[in-house]
Amino acid sequence: MQAKIVEPAQTLFFDQALMVEGWAAGVRLTLCDGRIAAIERDCLPAAGDERHGCGLPAMSNVHSHAFQREMAGRAERSGSNVDSFWTWREAMYASVDRMTPDDLRAVASLAYMEMLESGFSRVGEFHYLHRDIDGAPFADVAEMSVAITAAAAEAGIGLTLLPVLYSYGGFGGLPPQPAQRRFIQDIDAYLRLLEEAEGAVRALPDAIVGIAPHSLRAVSPDQFRLLGPAMKHRPVHIHIAEQIREVEDCLAWSGRRPVEWLLDNVDVGANWCLVHATHMTEAETAALARSGAVAGLCPITEANLGDGIFPAPAFLAAGGRFGIGSDSNVRIDCAEELRLLEYGQRLLHRRRNMLAGGPGRSTGRALYANAARGGAQALGVGLQLEVGGAADIISLDLGHPGLLDKSGDAILDAYIFAAGADAVDCVWRYGEKVVVGGRHRRRGEIVADYIRALERLIG
Ligand SMILES: [Zn+2]
Repeated sequence: MQAKIVEPAQTLFFDQALMVEGWAAGVRLTLCDGRIAAIERDCLPAAGDERHGCGLPAMSNVHSHAFQREMAGRAERSGSNVDSFWTWREAMYASVDRMTPDDLRAVASLAYMEMLESGFSRVGEFHYLHRDIDGAPFADVAEMSVAITAAAAEAGIGLTLLPVLYSYGGFGGLPPQPAQRRFIQDIDAYLRLLEEAEGAVRALPDAIVGIAPHSLRAVSPDQFRLLGPAMKHRPVHIHIAEQIREVEDCLAWSGRRPVEWLLDNVDVGANWCLVHATHMTEAETAALARSGAVAGLCPITEANLGDGIFPAPAFLAAGGRFGIGSDSNVRIDCAEELRLLEYGQRLLHRRRNMLAGGPGRSTGRALYANAARGGAQALGVGLQLEVGGAADIISLDLGHPGLLDKSGDAILDAYIFAAGADAVDCVWRYGEKVVVGGRHRRRGEIVADYIRALERLIG
């Protein structure tokens, strides 16, 4: 057996940092074996400290389909009829027709690199591309999960792998379409996949395997019952109420709306993440908040697909928790997700600072702190700057023109609304500095590998 390699402790000094209890000045973090071993506040920098202006807990990306990065920007041409989520989905199905496990690894690696560069340190990969090109099972049921894990290792991002159960083509157990052949599994194959996925992620530090019933249209009530025991102690993620047609189909099938049906029929608690939850009544919004589950909001993708706008003010007023996700990965940008979340509400309600949480409060701080906390909850980790936590940290460049002369909450307001991703300087993931000066350390080789995959895919 190999001896465990113990890295020497490293110290980072931040002039100011956003801690669990709020901003602190003169913060020294001692990192050891990927975790924060000690925190000092109100201290002066010492010899040997690596010094930065502003430190934040890195953000969790609660919802990603990494393979869709490959089609980003290629579904923006108007079709012959009305374009919608459903026409986009046809284009997405076509894009996976030729993707091999090695292509998936290369595409996911690029997406994960870009996530790190924008300030995400961990991703919830909602992974449903399970079968081979012709729809036959791979000899290893976890072949594609292994590819995702390899991509996470290459890019150096934290992984909560969410293998997806996808059995049906519509509400009421409709048979899947041929274009869905690569996603489809029965419950027995899925339970085997979960076991194998546990083995696949073992090589990554603090990786987690969760469970993801794809949606109420792709999983039956019986399957929810069979998954019950496995869902108790893991993150559970599900797509829900993203589209009006989905709500109408659910009503026709069950007499209930999707969020209503789920909360009435399945034991939903704080380990759950309901992705999108766009179309809810006031009663559903309050009930989801009460459940303690996280709403997984993906503002860029929801805007790109024309989904609608999440009822964020009512949800937050009821004590609801949210995280943000890059979903289709049409653009990967943490600050932009948060900005668009707020801007959607401003456009809808014709008011400003909708999600600040009260008079005099900073919108940037509320968005960032809430999304960081809710995102970590959804991915099953405690991503805050605290002793014992993973050393997942970002530093912002206070020399950026948008951030000059800012301190405390004003930094977050300027980062999210003025400077954006340009202001991200360094990103540490599990104690390792993977992004320096806004650039991933392996950017060159990851991009070259992606280009080779793309040539195979579209060549
Ligand atoms: Zn999704």
